[in-house]
Parts: sequence; structure tokens; C-alpha cells
Amino acid sequence: MKKVVIPNEIKISGMNRKIQFLPKEVIFPGEKKVYFGPEFIYFHGNLSEEETWRELIKSLLFFTDFGGEIEDSAKCRIAGNLTVFLIENKFLGGTPINKIPKKVKILGWEYQVNEVDFVINENELCLGQADVLSGEIQLYANLPTYRKWVTFFHEVVHGLDVLEELSEKGVVWLSWQITKFLADNNIISVGGDLSENHKK
Ligand SMILES: [Zn+2]
Repeated sequence: MKKVVIPNEIKISGMNRKIQFLPKEVIFPGEKKVYFGPEFIYFHGNLSEEETWRELIKSLLFFTDFGGEIEDSAKCRIAGNLTVFLIENKFLGGTPINKIPKKVKILGWEYQVNEVDFVINENELCLGQADVLSGEIQLYANLPTYRKWVTFFHEVVHGLDVLEELSEKGVVWLSWQITKFLADNNIISVGGDLSENHKK
């Protein structure tokens, strides 16, 4: 069993909220598992750690998809897969991850993560790519740390999007939001301010 830590407080979409578990007897309207108040996020008392994280990640996807780019059912699927990814690869163990892992598992597939001088896809230079068959994720080595993390999560999101429900624009957007969320909550250390560089 992988170690998973639930923080006391979480930052989603620029707002800090404390996390509160309610007594098991308390039932939310519509049998929801989570309720967002202005200062607190209330969770149903019998949620497991994995379910709690899944609800948090789901909220992140719902909060940040302002354009309604991504269908709700796809958000739920991606949130579930992303939670599994974060737990399997030990992101949620309570210790910040300073370096992009050299090896990751995406839905059961192992990938080697390599930083290379040139990433070439169909004769064009790009920042990153993932190859399921060879089990390799390539990241352009010469990127600032935060940008490398975004590129890493870009490839991860492609891998988690098993039904290919996301457009390329959706993947770009989500990888930024995921990186920002993880950095804001000290789950990863990106060595720079993401919001400053968001539009570049
Ligand atoms: Zn892409």
C-alpha cells in the first residue's frame, strides 16, 4: 500500500481552503461526497484517502475548466486516472518531489523518462513526446524547470486520456493546471513562478 497524505489545507484555483472531515452520520444533499464552503472543503467522514484525493483532483478539473472545453464525464475519468497516477508514483506521500521522476507508471505501463537534446516527432522539433511501445517519455533537456514539469505532465495527461477525449488544447490547458496545483500545494517543486509564465 502506497503512503498517501491528506493535507490540512489545500490551494485550488488560487484559493486556500481547510480540509474538514465530517462525522460519518452526516449526509450531504444528493449524497455528494464533498461540499465546498468559502473557507472549508467538507468531506464525507468515510471517504478513503484515495477517494478524498480523487474528489480534490476532480474539483480542480471542474474549477479550472472555465471554457467548458472538456466534457464532465471526461473530467471525472481523467481525475480518477490522475489520482491513481499520483498515488502509484508516490507524489502524495507528503514529501515534495524536487525532480521529475526517471521512471513512471501510467495506468500500468512503465515509462522511462529521458531528457534529450532534441525531441523529434514526425520530422518536427518539439518539447516532449511519449511512445507507448518503447515505453519512453522524452523531454527537451534545455527547458526551465517549471516548463519541463508542464511538458512532463502534458505527456502524462495524454497517457491518462485513454479514450482520447481531450483535444490538444485541452491537454495543454490541463497540464498547466495540474503543474500549478501540485506546485501551489508543495507536492512538487518547480523552481519558479508558474503564473508569471503562463501565457508564454
Ligand atoms: Zn500533446
